[in-house]
Amino acid sequence: MSAPPGEALVPRIAVLGPSGRMGRAVLAAARGRRELQIAAAADRAGAEGLGAEVAPGVLVGADAGRALDACDVYIDFTTPASTRAAAIAATPRRRAAVIGTTGLTAVDDEAIAALVKVAPVVLAANFSLGVNLVLGFVKQAARILGPDWDAEVVETHHHDKRDAPSGTALAIARAIASGHHSDYDRVKRHARDGDIGPRPRGEIGVSTVRGGDVVGEHVATFFGAGERVEIGHRATSREIFAQGALRAAAWVVGKPPGRYDMLDVLGLA
Ligand code: NAD
Repeated sequence: MSAPPGEALVPRIAVLGPSGRMGRAVLAAARGRRELQIAAAADRAGAEGLGAEVAPGVLVGADAGRALDACDVYIDFTTPASTRAAAIAATPRRRAAVIGTTGLTAVDDEAIAALVKVAPVVLAANFSLGVNLVLGFVKQAARILGPDWDAEVVETHHHDKRDAPSGTALAIARAIASGHHSDYDRVKRHARDGDIGPRPRGEIGVSTVRGGDVVGEHVATFFGAGERVEIGHRATSREIFAQGALRAAAWVVGKPPGRYDMLDVLGLA
């Protein structure tokens, strides 16, 4: 941590993927803020924007290791392969992390699990306050309504999004399963096509829509007999995710090693 005499500790942040949609949003949200410092930025070799100055004196490099050496905490909204490589590089450095990349596989999770043993890591499929409230609401609704109310989640995102269903839709569906006391991997249904027969009791469906420039929409519907309950969230700006990630970065520095989520950061756990 950098601490000029007489001033509060200011966390030094490295941004991975600074030329991506979320990387740009994080840099924009950090601009002009005195309680944190953008200390480094690294993107993949050949990325657009390499060499650009993204904060005073901070040029985008292609060496994630150097960026990790220059920070107290890194923010990662990139790709699963890049997130895995960053977690592997951060582990011997015991570097705190804020990870927002979605579509992570078991092998990516293993690399993050190794980092979590030696450093504090905030991992969230969605950094907005609203979605984290929705996670609590759907769990409560599922617990009260039970599996006789058919639960379905529909997510909509812009046409460049790579992973499906979205990490947020999966988090919502898992929260519903937890409210039902069921094992999500046994009750999930991510696609329907052809002669599928009647809907099994307790199934949790997740449907994906892709189009245009939609930042992110999620609606969980509980279908009862003669009525239905809808709990939804619409993001109209990436700034909400960026502000949440910066808040998580400031919060996580100095915490004991472990895995944290946005509910911990928001004090709602
Ligand atoms: P994007 O494609 O616009 O940006 C990805 C960035 O990662 C690019 O700059 C790319 O060059 C960079 N990158 C790729 N390989 C790299 C490497 N090896 N080292 C460093 N940088 C590398 O994608 P996006 O829309 O910004 O989304 C990024 C991720 O964040 C996705 O997984 C998305 O689902 C997720 N996301 C999460 C939240 C959340 O709140 N948790 C919100 C929005 C998006």
